[in-house]
Amino acid sequence: MWLILLIIIALGLSFGSFANCLVWRLYRQEKISGRSYCPRCLRQLWWHDNIPLFSYLRLGGRCRFCRQPISWQYPAVEAAVAILFVFFWFKHLGFIWPDAESLGLFFNLNFWLALVRDYLAVFVLTVVFVFDLRFYLVSNAVVMPAAIVFAGLNLLLGASWYVLLLGIAGALAFFGLQFILTRGRGLGEGDIWLGLLLATLFPNWSLLILAILSAYLLGTAVGLALIIAGRKEWGSKLPLGVFLALGALITLAWGPALVAAYWSFQL
Ligand SMILES: [Zn+2]
Repeated sequence: MWLILLIIIALGLSFGSFANCLVWRLYRQEKISGRSYCPRCLRQLWWHDNIPLFSYLRLGGRCRFCRQPISWQYPAVEAAVAILFVFFWFKHLGFIWPDAESLGLFFNLNFWLALVRDYLAVFVLTVVFVFDLRFYLVSNAVVMPAAIVFAGLNLLLGASWYVLLLGIAGALAFFGLQFILTRGRGLGEGDIWLGLLLATLFPNWSLLILAILSAYLLGTAVGLALIIAGRKEWGSKLPLGVFLALGALITLAWGPALVAAYWSFQL
């Protein structure tokens, strides 16, 4: 079991590293393949300077060649994805240390399908989060293929296709209307496609609404905090994609429990 855990951590670090790389290369519109290089001195990295987290620590956060600091974004994203991968592993096991009984789960196809969906979601939402936070952009090159895969996986997991289609229509209408009413100033076109992504990830009305609602609540809270702290002014733009990614992660992790808590509160 410790071995599986180590593999998951390594997998998470690698996907985090790939997410960093993908954000940078999509932004620069470079090929995804090709050797990694230092963004400051443009020198190619040695393979052993490219190991997630450990290389950063060993190099003391500086490039081997030019000694310029490497952004702390890189190790932070790698560690965050690894932690989320471990979290969702245990979530699908029901938060227990696996015993002989839970071995049955490993022969269950749905366990793996749901795990793959959640790992892919963590990866894609991380890319969206970092991309939008750094560049105020959402990349359709990532969002569109992911939406198709999420729809496919969720249908395999037994989601009803008409709820899925209704969710997509609803999300497109919700974000599209805002886009038209604010003439593209309230939210970007990319946020409409993020709405589509959320609808395919959550083929379920309450989860979809929870994801969008928590994104707006988080956005409002952070926006107010920044205004009070004097870091932003009224009406200045916050990257909505960042909060949609966070809202989606919260929903992915605790969605059904939060929805159940809401309904029990009502009664
Ligand atoms: Zn350098």
